Amino acid sequence: MNIISDAVSAIKSIRIQDILDIAIIAAMIFALLTWFKTRASRFVLIGILLLGGVYLVARFFQLYLTVIVLQGFFAILLFVLVVIFQEDLRGVFERLAMFGNLRKTVAPVSVLDATADMIAEAAGNMAKKHVGALIVIQGADPLGRHINGGTALDGRLSTAVVESIFDPHSSGHDGAVVIKDDRIRMFGVHLPLSTGIGHYENIGLRHTAALGLTERSDALCVVVSEESGTISTAVGGSLSAVSGPSVLNEILKKYYARYRTETKARPLLAWMRENTKEKVIAVALACVLWVAVGYQRDTVRRDFIIPIEYKNIPQVWQIEEPQATEVKVILQGAEQAFRLLHEKSLRLSLDLSSISEKNREFMLTREMVNAPSNLTVAEISPAKVRVQASKLAWEALPVRLVTRNRLADDLVLQKIVLDPATIRVLADTRMKPGEIILETEPLDLQSISGSVTITLKLAVARGVTFPNGEPPQVRVNVRVKKK
Ligand code: ATP
Ligand code: MG
Repeated sequence: MNIISDAVSAIKSIRIQDILDIAIIAAMIFALLTWFKTRASRFVLIGILLLGGVYLVARFFQLYLTVIVLQGFFAILLFVLVVIFQEDLRGVFERLAMFGNLRKTVAPVSVLDATADMIAEAAGNMAKKHVGALIVIQGADPLGRHINGGTALDGRLSTAVVESIFDPHSSGHDGAVVIKDDRIRMFGVHLPLSTGIGHYENIGLRHTAALGLTERSDALCVVVSEESGTISTAVGGSLSAVSGPSVLNEILKKYYARYRTETKARPLLAWMRENTKEKVIAVALACVLWVAVGYQRDTVRRDFIIPIEYKNIPQVWQIEEPQATEVKVILQGAEQAFRLLHEKSLRLSLDLSSISEKNREFMLTREMVNAPSNLTVAEISPAKVRVQASKLAWEALPVRLVTRNRLADDLVLQKIVLDPATIRVLADTRMKPGEIILETEPLDLQSISGSVTITLKLAVARGVTFPNGEPPQVRVNVRVKKK
């Protein structure tokens, strides 16, 4: 039951990032799987997978020594694999670099057709003469890792050249010729021998070598038997006899056609159709890894002191000091969620729009905390806050002019007019009428030398809030007369 609820909560907490996380790992596993697909590499993959399994188990049971040793081993293994598979790696990067641009790497149909014709003709001729031959036609896979020895040639293919290479009197007739597109890349090459030839009756080294290479790569091998003068082809680790050069010609053309469409035409579509099993395995493995390593079922609780933000304060209310400014919250969730948390941005927003004379106390609820969705608020303390605030009411109050110093001796004050004489302000309702006095900034009488109108600001008064925060201005008209 526990596992099921864990799984449900895990699925609920999946974010887009997690899907991306899994997708990247799945793609990497898929690349590894398809890369190790050839039989020779399979044991390497199985070995690595086994060690990976041991590693996960060791981590789970906290077998420290095993974990440390395996971690070191994987680090070294990475280098070893890079060295062993450098040619394949280069191929992968080349393909990535030329994504969608593979066209140029495959020779045109006419060239490949002519190649098939020449190979078939040469094989037919050699078969007639009982000349042994082994011709490798390279597919998309690089072969360097599998083959040994030989002499590089890189020459134009022709029937005559092939026949003369395999002429028993020539020094290069031992071994295989490697052909890529319409060129002979190498001759006298040593191929890996197949170990699983049990179901082929008494075949010799040449045929075993053809099987060996095609088990390990997508190449096609044409074998001409010295003993029996027969032609055989090997693809994907199976050998079949060919009745004659014309049939061989067809087989070669079919092989080229498939190889061309696989590498060239609609590479995306071809990619989607292929390797379904590997894709499923990759996604499943990535999910298992994600659950084992990435997703943690253990929830953690952490304390945070976060600020309170007072929102939507009605205009007729005024918040006063002292005020609660912080609360303690306990958040709960996966360790990773905490790792991604911006602690500084956490706050509790308290909506004061419902404040009233009777309602000054506010319960603090989880929804007020802006915790990310993958963390839950387990506790808030204090559970409620009392807001210190005073109610204000609109009141029209007279403005009183404040003066400083005295008029010059030769002047007589005639009249002072304030405009406006009264101002509407928001006044604290707890104060008695007459207790609130609106005064101007002091007017320096000494500076007055004749009748004048001066604009003065109101001074900040206790218990008063001005409608838009700024103290309003009053025009003071001072009329004086010379003595
Ligand atoms: P055939 O029917 O022509 O006799 P076979 O399968 O019986 O072929 P062998 O009789 O053993 O094979 O032929 C030996 C020849 O095969 C060698 O002379 C050599 O040219 C070639 N050969 C043997 N081993 C390899 C190898 N590993 N890679 C490439 N060519 C090889
Ligand atoms: Mg033989």
